[in-house]
Amino acid sequence: MVGIVVVSHSETLAEGVVRLAREMGGEELALEAAGGMEEEGVLGTDAERVRAAIERAMSDEGVLVLMDLGSALMSAEFAIEMLADGGDRVVLSEAPLVEGAVAAAVAARGGASLQEVADEARRALAMKASQLGVAEPDASVADSASDGHAPSAADAEASLPVLNAIGLHARPAARFVETARGFDADVHVGKLGGAPPVKATSLTNVVALGARLGDTLRVTASGPQASDAIAALDDLAKSGFGDGVAPGAAAPPVETADRPEPAAGTEPPASGATLTGVPAAGGVATGPARLLSGGSLEPPPDRDPAGAEQERERLESALSEAREAVTADRDTVARRAGRSEAEIFDAHLALLDDDALLDPARSAITAGATAERAWYDAAQQVAEQYRGLDVPLLQERAVDVLDVGRRVIGALTGVQTSTSSVSGIVIAGELTPAGAARLDPARVLGIATAHGTATAHAAILARALGIPAAVGLGDSVVEIRDGTTVLVDGEAGTLQVDPPAEVVREAEERRERVAQRRAAARERAYEPGAFKDGRRVEVFANLGSAAEAARAVGHGAEGVGLLRTEFLFLDREELPSEEEQADTLRVIAAALEGRPLIVRTLDAGADKPLPALPMPPEANPFLGVRGVRISLQQPEVLATQFRAILRVAAEYPVKAMLPMVATLDELQAARAVLGEARLATGVRAPLELGIMVEIPAAALTASRLAQEADFFSLGTNDLTQYTMAAERGDERLAPLLTGPQPAVLRLVRETVRAASERGRLVGVCGELAGDPAAAVLLAGLGVTELSMAPALVPEVKAALRSVDSSRAQAVAEQALDAPDAAAARALAAALL
Ligand code: PEP
Ligand code: MG
Repeated sequence: MVGIVVVSHSETLAEGVVRLAREMGGEELALEAAGGMEEEGVLGTDAERVRAAIERAMSDEGVLVLMDLGSALMSAEFAIEMLADGGDRVVLSEAPLVEGAVAAAVAARGGASLQEVADEARRALAMKASQLGVAEPDASVADSASDGHAPSAADAEASLPVLNAIGLHARPAARFVETARGFDADVHVGKLGGAPPVKATSLTNVVALGARLGDTLRVTASGPQASDAIAALDDLAKSGFGDGVAPGAAAPPVETADRPEPAAGTEPPASGATLTGVPAAGGVATGPARLLSGGSLEPPPDRDPAGAEQERERLESALSEAREAVTADRDTVARRAGRSEAEIFDAHLALLDDDALLDPARSAITAGATAERAWYDAAQQVAEQYRGLDVPLLQERAVDVLDVGRRVIGALTGVQTSTSSVSGIVIAGELTPAGAARLDPARVLGIATAHGTATAHAAILARALGIPAAVGLGDSVVEIRDGTTVLVDGEAGTLQVDPPAEVVREAEERRERVAQRRAAARERAYEPGAFKDGRRVEVFANLGSAAEAARAVGHGAEGVGLLRTEFLFLDREELPSEEEQADTLRVIAAALEGRPLIVRTLDAGADKPLPALPMPPEANPFLGVRGVRISLQQPEVLATQFRAILRVAAEYPVKAMLPMVATLDELQAARAVLGEARLATGVRAPLELGIMVEIPAAALTASRLAQEADFFSLGTNDLTQYTMAAERGDERLAPLLTGPQPAVLRLVRETVRAASERGRLVGVCGELAGDPAAAVLLAGLGVTELSMAPALVPEVKAALRSVDSSRAQAVAEQALDAPDAAAARALAAALL
């Protein structure tokens, strides 16, 4: 890679510019500061310092030198003369220092030549000019960067929406350029309705497009990897170019678009048909289908209009009522799932004030329509416009229009059917965590999705909310008409359309039995977890937010076996400070009233990008830089987490846990960071450091890891994914992913064996722990702590209470030899 040297009269300034450019260029870039004089604090430039910096940055590709004022140029020229060799590979750049360094860093990181890097730096001011709108980007600049036109015969192309709040500004544009450069393809990008397309490998060009939230980029690619390049850029765009999607932008992240749309011509399932998918959350429910995606509005009943004036008043008052209801829903969801999940309702409020809906509705009233018919027609029309867009994420905005449409019609007719206040079985293509979070468990009877698996986050949330769910039912499920009676069986993973009366009756009886069983389990939820013979098995809860801590205690959790700290980092431009993290941990620990809390350090990866921690896209994110691997690449992030945890550990029973550990080295490196954090905080209180066992390598080398890990917690979601080589979110692989796979149980046994030799305890915090039958098998194998969604605690405790430990042990041994997961589970289920 081309090296870059920043020369400035001020040492601080040079170092600051290097830091800034490194944000874009990454750690591996040879980026050197040469600022100030030898004598500390004295302003000026020093040829010897510049020479040394050039030598440090030197590579076969050469070095670009950026300078600030006057004598900086002279010092740089002297420095080149002083070089032993390589002087012919140094280019002095007249580019503006800050903008030039940033643009050069992005280009260098993408593997550009010295000349290309120098050109990029030179054009850097055009970015700012374009953003400020003070001048059009220099045409000659654009021309020199592109060939002036898009390739005539593109091999692949796409329209990509700009979904992040601040548009394609420097950092997201840098990600765009880096992605485009990563493929053997000639990629061009333009803005729909804007200037002609430019080469996508230039940061300047991409920023100069001035693409903002709501714009659509037209991207074309030609060459051997054209399709791959377009696919990667498409993925990047969906993540808001790594910044996250602005609330209300693509609006309804209720549904994701990264699955193929249902095949054209998919037929709605016939009356009486049963669709089979994956069991995701236990229980059974019948009710009217409520489609979150692809749904339609029920036309309002016909009636004679009462006169334009009166109809207008009715509409205005229905709009106010709807606004109040949306605001109330927003506050409820914010309390239940967090503020960011609730932001979807801000988009709904905006729609209630949107002239695109209001104008045609008011005109129709003037022309003699009833308020509900006028609003119905306007909502249908606007939803249709969204559906007609060629960007899937924008198409899905139609769902929000329909939702708002239902709300207002409901207020006008007295029949409420808004999806966020649905009472029925929610049906969706694929429910994102945000989509699931906005559902009200008091009203949603069941969930059925076309895609997803039992360990998908929406399924985890459904279990946490105690709503029966079947996922991965196939595309035809979203073809079911809104209002059709359906039966969801969360145990069998099925959905039946228009079930016969006797099936409904049977389901009702089963629901009643399940409800009674749950009520009985809840009565004894506060007893300690133990087998029938008294052998203790601690039953803990998994938390994904601070709000869940009190809920966990309420469900009888004896502690928290997994706090997923990702929630502190989601949707954030800046990393959370040590103080903020410590404050949040303190709130959670206090809510646990003395119960133990295991805090897992950040488990991020390219599969769930965090705006504050940009990560390059990966072909295979689940096998990429995630979990502890990121933490070790960015030790400051880990150190900050450790310092926050240490501070809280001084007051509460807190432990730390590392995700995705594969080797002893990783654990040792993290321990070293912990040691430094300890010195920095001065906290002497002991802090146990455990690891998640979720990679087969960790299970197989547990005896080595046990030398340094204070405890283990088996992450069976990932452990199953990696053992079975089956991506955890792919419903087509459900048979490989569902239930206690014998191969995974063997890894559990090996981990327990190795750990017990060193006196280390083993828990399970994967979803298996919350399945009562699987929980019995895991505890039978010697696991002493099970951690699960809070709502599942009482039932798992009840299951353990009903079995002798010796019996569980014997059955668990047999399960190791079972032919498949279903057979292994059935052995334990027979005991309950
Ligand atoms: C797991 O992999 O089992 C686990 C608990 O971690 P996560 O689901 O957060 O990846
Ligand atoms: Mg995991």
